Amino acid sequence: MDLHELSIQQAHELLSSRKVSSEELTRAYLERIRRLDPQIKSYVTVSEELALKQAKEADQRIKTGEGLTPLTGIPYSAKDSISTRGINTTCSSKILENYKPFYDATAIKKLNSSNSVLLGKNNMDEFGMGSSTENSGFFTTRNPWNFDYVPGGSSGGSAAAVAAGLTPFSLGEDTGGSVRMPASFCGVTGLKTTYGRVSRYGLIPLVSSFDTIGPMARSVYDVALVLETIAGHDAKDSTSRLEPVENYSEILKTTENLRGLRIGIPKEYFVEGLDSAVDFSVRDAIKHIESLGAEVIEVSLPHTQYAIPVYYLILFAEASSNLAKYDGIRFGLSERSVESLMDVYLKTRETGFGAETKRRIMLGTFALSAGYYDAYYLKAQKVRTLIRQDFQKAFETCDALITPVAPATAFRIGEKITNPLDMYLSDVFVVAVNLAGIPALSVPCGISNGLPIGMQIMGPHLSEETLLRIGHLYQSQTDWHTKHPPL
Ligand code: GLN
Repeated sequence: MDLHELSIQQAHELLSSRKVSSEELTRAYLERIRRLDPQIKSYVTVSEELALKQAKEADQRIKTGEGLTPLTGIPYSAKDSISTRGINTTCSSKILENYKPFYDATAIKKLNSSNSVLLGKNNMDEFGMGSSTENSGFFTTRNPWNFDYVPGGSSGGSAAAVAAGLTPFSLGEDTGGSVRMPASFCGVTGLKTTYGRVSRYGLIPLVSSFDTIGPMARSVYDVALVLETIAGHDAKDSTSRLEPVENYSEILKTTENLRGLRIGIPKEYFVEGLDSAVDFSVRDAIKHIESLGAEVIEVSLPHTQYAIPVYYLILFAEASSNLAKYDGIRFGLSERSVESLMDVYLKTRETGFGAETKRRIMLGTFALSAGYYDAYYLKAQKVRTLIRQDFQKAFETCDALITPVAPATAFRIGEKITNPLDMYLSDVFVVAVNLAGIPALSVPCGISNGLPIGMQIMGPHLSEETLLRIGHLYQSQTDWHTKHPPL
């Protein structure tokens, strides 16, 4: 087996028995990135110097054998909206093209404490706005399974890098599906964490009330290893949860069946327009999960049809406010070769932001303006509560819900980019989860015409353990997650 095919668990065994060094492993990934990434374009920045330095430090630690964790010496990458000290953090926006944070996000800090090795930063839709990575201010990432197709978005660079063997795992950000959708399109496993389970400190915000950081990797077990490292309360993020972090990977080792679990199938997610191959694969996976001992029942989430308009309204509003600070004076790019202060603002934002970002800022500013606030933003917040209550009600009768991640497999590059509404609609199955703040896991469950299909397993707040158990047991009996794109 090649080094880039190892799971975190397998790599850890080789590292701790000193059959392979972190430096060798890191060099193997850097070499593969050099060879394949010019075509896939999953990285915005490769932090080679830092990676080799961290790998050598990890090897030192492995030599002494002190305080080793399963992630010691393991390379990884992170979405470019997650702050990394001294390493460009651009959100794939021209406005932050040269921004080097002077601190690490808490999630990165925790990985540093494990002596994990940062390979670089992954491409994304600008500030996380998009479902295809075509909205990156720099370039479009390609789906490693077929270069004519999108990798999904907005964490498309992260998903493509994991799928192509250009990193064992990546940290993504999910505000409205950005971990799950690209995971599904690229055939990798991705977890959208409960709001507040992982500190948002150092995550450049898109929508502060939706944003979450979550791991993307090649198996549920690997996702569990990353989650138990990065999760937990953080004094620097007042919205982070106080509950102790479970030892997820240990729990998975002892899970033998799913007896006693009740799984709901929301009927609103299996409707006309759902691609038949996706429908077939997800239903087949549900049957499999039933055979592992779970009971399957039909449930209803009656306000599902409002999820897209409510999500986008709140997003426009909060994003327009979060992005106001990029004004040419306080943060980022500054266009100074102009006549007046007003022109600094105008020129900076005109050249710094892409078309989709500008569209959302304008719509959000409108939705928050006097006279419209009640009609749009306030109304959307009320319907958000109804959607959250739908989930609460469903979780009174079941432990988890299973749905497709997306209505179809990856679409072609260029297919939806000129029609924003069409692009927004591809998020139809993922955004309700963010409105409710609950966790959801995306697990590969099929392939159609050479492109991966994913199922989504959702649960109540802080039910990560249940979701991981279901996904892990499914993966221990199926091999969809082990399939690689033909590179
Ligand atoms: N498709 C979503 C959007 O465009 C993705 C948001 C996200 O999760 N970052 O808003």
